[in-house]
Amino acid sequence: MRVTDILATTKPACSFEFFPPKTAPLRDEVLTAIDELMPLQPSYISVTYGAGGSSRDNTFDLVLRVREKTGLPVISHLTCVGSGRDDIHNILSRYAENGILDILALRGDPPRDHHQPVAGDFSQAADLVAFIKKEFPAMSVGVAGFPEGHPETPNRLREMDFLKAKIDAGADYIITQLFFDNRDFFDFCHRCELAGIKVPIIAGILPITNKSGMIRMADLAAGARIPAPLLAEIQKCENDADVEETGVRWAAKQMHDLVTQGVDGIHLYTLNSATAIRRIFAAIEVEDSQQLREMATNKDTNI
Ligand SMILES: Cc1cc2nc3c(=O)[nH]c(=O)nc-3n(C[C@H](O)[C@H](O)[C@H](O)COP(=O)(O)OP(=O)(O)OC[C@H]3O[C@@H](n4cnc5c(N)ncnc54)[C@H](O)[C@@H]3O)c2cc1C
Repeated sequence: MRVTDILATTKPACSFEFFPPKTAPLRDEVLTAIDELMPLQPSYISVTYGAGGSSRDNTFDLVLRVREKTGLPVISHLTCVGSGRDDIHNILSRYAENGILDILALRGDPPRDHHQPVAGDFSQAADLVAFIKKEFPAMSVGVAGFPEGHPETPNRLREMDFLKAKIDAGADYIITQLFFDNRDFFDFCHRCELAGIKVPIIAGILPITNKSGMIRMADLAAGARIPAPLLAEIQKCENDADVEETGVRWAAKQMHDLVTQGVDGIHLYTLNSATAIRRIFAAIEVEDSQQLREMATNKDTNI
């Protein structure tokens, strides 16, 4: 079963994202967090990839471990910036040989201190999508979308053309950057529709759990804005436990609204921890993703 097959039959799908830690003890912690999240019945799991190949083997190892442990489809994120065709072909072959057929095709970002154009065979994620679909047609391919825009393309009309180019190259679905105001997501979906984009759009949700993490996140998550009402609530918090309480409540409200308005899927950025994600489900008063789907059809539930 590939993610594309799941999205065709399951609405909303529910997925959890993890990043590959560098050390074995930390990797064990991720596997424990996954164990703790399995009762929520995720539809699939995704594992991120360090730009510049820094965690290539870590991603590969974790993808295989998670698939073996959970039996679920696992999306391997793959960035192409600075990579050659042979290099990318080798990575994809290794995945295909191991039965991993789900890739999130990303451009990635050049290293921060890099001031020269980066050499490599791929300029944009669309090039990677086309390459995967040509060389590995059985693979299901997702791409990134940015409800509030990607900082490198201030022209939002051109940005939609570039997103459409990824779909025209063969992308099967979109997973969005995290966002905190659902109006940005719904507007993005509407703009996709106007651009003729018909693939499922999966909403990226991250619960804020502490103030320092929030600042780091604002640095890393291109384009994501923290709305003033959420910022005001966080500013009032006296400690990180209060921040987590606020972040969980906010994410739960977002998720409830998205689900009852018919979102295709929810992608939860776990930051490798189960606690806040479990609390979000508890706040919405659902035990697992199956109940989330029941909530989608019974729209008068409230939280
Ligand atoms: C869900 C999700 C998961 C992610 N996972 C990872 C990860 O695991 N590892 C990682 O390193 N990063 C990850 N990222 C971050 C991502 O790599 C960066 O945001 C990167 O800057 C953009 O990648 P992209 O695939 O959207 O690139 P692209 O779609 O190639 O877009 C990059 C920029 O170029 C512009 N553009 C596209 N085509 C053209 C064109 N033809 N001409 C001119 N401009 C063009 C776009 O508008 C955009 O501004 C993730 C992002 C998201 C939303």
